[in-house]
Amino acid sequence: MPTIDEQLAKVIARIQQAAQASGRDAQTVQLVAVSKTQPAAVLLAAYNAGQRHFGENYLQEALEKQAQLHSLSELQWHFIGPIQSNKTRAIAEHFSWVHSVDRLKIAQRLSEQRPAHLPELQLCIQVNIDDEPTKSGVSLAQLPELAHAIAALPRLHLRGLMAIPEPSDNPAQQRASFARLRQALQILQSQGLALDTLSMGMSADLEAAVAEGATLVRVGSDIFGQRPARAS
Ligand SMILES: *Cc1c(COP(=O)(O)O)cnc(C)c1O
Repeated sequence: MPTIDEQLAKVIARIQQAAQASGRDAQTVQLVAVSKTQPAAVLLAAYNAGQRHFGENYLQEALEKQAQLHSLSELQWHFIGPIQSNKTRAIAEHFSWVHSVDRLKIAQRLSEQRPAHLPELQLCIQVNIDDEPTKSGVSLAQLPELAHAIAALPRLHLRGLMAIPEPSDNPAQQRASFARLRQALQILQSQGLALDTLSMGMSADLEAAVAEGATLVRVGSDIFGQRPARAS
């Protein structure tokens, strides 16, 4: 079995190669290690190997790991899973970033509940980029209205957009989805929103995402191995 250090190094090398191939500086692509279902000891191994940003999908599981790892002062937590209203307070109190906001009501609650002593909550809007009926995310049609409303809320810093495209083995199709997200960001920028983040690309498609301008990739299984099936 390869170690976490080795897997992490491989993913970082893939990001560097993809950045180089499209003439980008690899420093402009941040790696978020998606650690859902992984125990705290595994996150600690990645932290000791230099990883600082971690993404979690399930609130209760994340809070338990945060309690175990609270002494790691440079660790930054990203919430990337679906958000129910009754979870917003804990998310506002315990995370630096949230990538999965797709409704104004959730953003308003996060804004009201972000503690004053913490920096602004860094936020991305999740877009349903391939218009899949069962997937989370705002539609491209409704994105501008939502983005302008969220940008006006205090205690939040709207940074950009996040998407999980329809799975595809075809690099051209992967790139087409990511290109749509990039274009959506550019439109919002042209409307005066100061956005700088494209959260896109996972284990299977990070190269295509970097080629289309990802500034943040969220990688789980290629760092930590296949996840065990989850009961709920
Ligand atoms: C699980 C997950 C990832 C990581 O996926 P891998 O295929 O394991 O790299 C990234 N983003 C989100 C939103 C996820 O839920």
